[in-house]
Amino acid sequence: MNDHIGTDGGAVPAGNGRPPRVVIAGGGFAGVEAARTLIREDVQVTLIDRRNYHLFQPLLYQIATAILQPSDIAVPLRRLFGRHGNALVLMDSVVGIRTAEKAVVTAAGKTLPYDHLILAPGAETSYFGNDAWRKHSFGLKSLDDAARIRQQVLLAFERAEMTDSEEERKRLLTFAIVGGGPNGIGAAVSLVELARDVLARDFRHIDPSMPRIVVMEAGERILPASSERHAGYAARVLREKKVELRVKSEVSKVDEAGVFIGDERIVAGTVIWTAGVKACPVAEWLGVEPAKGGRIEVTEVLTAPGHEDIYVLGDAALARGRDGKPLPGLAAVARQQGKFAARRILSRIQGRGRNDAFRYRDYGDMVPLGRAKAAARLGRMELTGIVAWVLWAAAHIVLLFDRRRQLMVLNNWFWAFAMKRNAARVIVEQRDLTLYHARSDSRDQSAPGRGP
Ligand SMILES: Cc1cc2nc3c(=O)[nH]c(=O)nc-3n(C[C@H](O)[C@H](O)[C@H](O)COP(=O)(O)OP(=O)(O)OC[C@H]3O[C@@H](n4cnc5c(N)ncnc54)[C@H](O)[C@@H]3O)c2cc1C
Repeated sequence: MNDHIGTDGGAVPAGNGRPPRVVIAGGGFAGVEAARTLIREDVQVTLIDRRNYHLFQPLLYQIATAILQPSDIAVPLRRLFGRHGNALVLMDSVVGIRTAEKAVVTAAGKTLPYDHLILAPGAETSYFGNDAWRKHSFGLKSLDDAARIRQQVLLAFERAEMTDSEEERKRLLTFAIVGGGPNGIGAAVSLVELARDVLARDFRHIDPSMPRIVVMEAGERILPASSERHAGYAARVLREKKVELRVKSEVSKVDEAGVFIGDERIVAGTVIWTAGVKACPVAEWLGVEPAKGGRIEVTEVLTAPGHEDIYVLGDAALARGRDGKPLPGLAAVARQQGKFAARRILSRIQGRGRNDAFRYRDYGDMVPLGRAKAAARLGRMELTGIVAWVLWAAAHIVLLFDRRRQLMVLNNWFWAFAMKRNAARVIVEQRDLTLYHARSDSRDQSAPGRGP
């Protein structure tokens, strides 16, 4: 059945008369979109992902803030492709590529030959070389990260309720968010709503004004990719909600007691790091020099330079728009690239030799700002407030995978936004987070169930 899988060191040679083999590394937005297009044709698709699910990252912060449950935003890859006879899903990690042999090498020791290869492993949290900061802060990139933030926030309230020390209560209820991009801002607003409107009222020794949320941004303003108007609107929303906003405030150190901005220490029980990502090590796999952020600067047809049959897509790629500027790391970019690469592969297989360049269609962008507020750009039209929020909500519901998840998300939003009762507030495991931090240096970010 799996005649396209060889054992280590021995790629299965391409045979005549068999369907062309396309291997896809990464079941994120780019990989899934490519696979969906390819499986409709007579092509053997092998999709490899280190997880067994596709994750809808734009709603990850809602897992961290107890609005949604993990299964609301993650769909098993086998659910998407398991019933297609020409698709093989493997839960495995790509660790290298033998370009001369045209084969992918995996952590489980498989060698997978390909005729066409799509590399879309996305990006991971980057601490800009300060990797020691990782153990004192929480990234927001995986389901595991988001679930740990939720656990940490809920435990912070439980411990604040019990402590006799005002100082300790203050520390526990201070949440520092590093990074004023859409993820940091979305998380900050959602966290302040959870802390002040939902959690604080359920405790006897916590006053709703006590939780302190501080957002630190190194640049001149928050939301650097959005318009001045939208950044100003978001800043106003944050101020109304009493989130402390610190711009031109580069974090110089993160340690067990909180963060430093220059010499100023901000004591915080929880530090959430949303300040940077770097591409997964595609450059290393291909043996090429990476561009900014570890990405591969791709050709205008999204192939790796010098490799006509290897496509690099999504957050792992540095592709340029018509204006020559790098395209942003967005799900929409990744999805459009996935479709483009799949169609180009099909046209080459069918001998049509499509050679037009990839052009990103920018329909707009949206930043959620908590309950019934958002900033949305549709083409050149800019909207704020509840209208923008409705658009944001509709766009996200439509993009969820199936009706069941759409209904679950709508239901959870109703309880969180209308009734102020975030559903996912159960502390599943009383893990000692200090221990978790101390032992997490050697962790594999993606490994499920890591920790003590
Ligand atoms: C918190 C957060 C919020 C966001 N919000 C938005 C938003 O509102 N709007 C928007 O447009 N974009 C948003 N983004 C960005 C968007 O999610 C990414 O741009 C998009 O996911 C990139 O798609 P991708 O296919 O390149 O990678 P991903 O979707 O990250 O998928 C990569 C896949 O590759 C797998 N993988 C990684 N390494 C390996 C390996 N070695 N072997 C096998 N598999 C591997 C991973 O498990 C993963 O499934 C957000 C991102 C985050 C983190």
